[in-house]
Amino acid sequence: MKDCIFCKIIAGDIPNYTVYEDDHVLAFLDIHPRAKGHTVVIPKIHAENYFDLNEELLEHVARGVRKAMEKIEHVLSPDGYNVGWNQGEAGGQEVPHLHVHIFPRYEGDGGGNMHSIVNNTGDTSVEEFSKLFS
Ligand code: AMP
Ligand code: ZN
Repeated sequence: MKDCIFCKIIAGDIPNYTVYEDDHVLAFLDIHPRAKGHTVVIPKIHAENYFDLNEELLEHVARGVRKAMEKIEHVLSPDGYNVGWNQGEAGGQEVPHLHVHIFPRYEGDGGGNMHSIVNNTGDTSVEEFSKLFS
């Protein structure tokens, strides 16, 4: 997509520090890292979010994340990882081209886990929610 910053990276118009690349995905170091080796993995075809990926792209992205993690594992040997993506404005997504964040984690790095992202349970019980899904 013309005005998409990540499409420009794929096109080579904006430089990147590549961690892993194949025909379908590019993984590169985040320019404002929140962890040593903070990496984002993007499909080479513009897709705004996870819902926009077809089955084939889903597999390519999943494999690309694993490949990038293997590279990070080899180079940095972190103690753990948090992996995921921000989707939609409410989810904190700023760049509208799907990117999976890989946060390498290190003992004592002071970070939290996925549960620290939000705490908004409200009054509805889990049992009540379960009825919506049945
Ligand atoms: P978000 O859309 O909030 O999930 O995050 C977008 C991420 O893209 C941020 O962590 C930015 O630091 C990162 N980012 C934006 N522009 C670049 C760039 N040119 N190269 C590498 N990372 C970038
Ligand atoms: Zn794009």
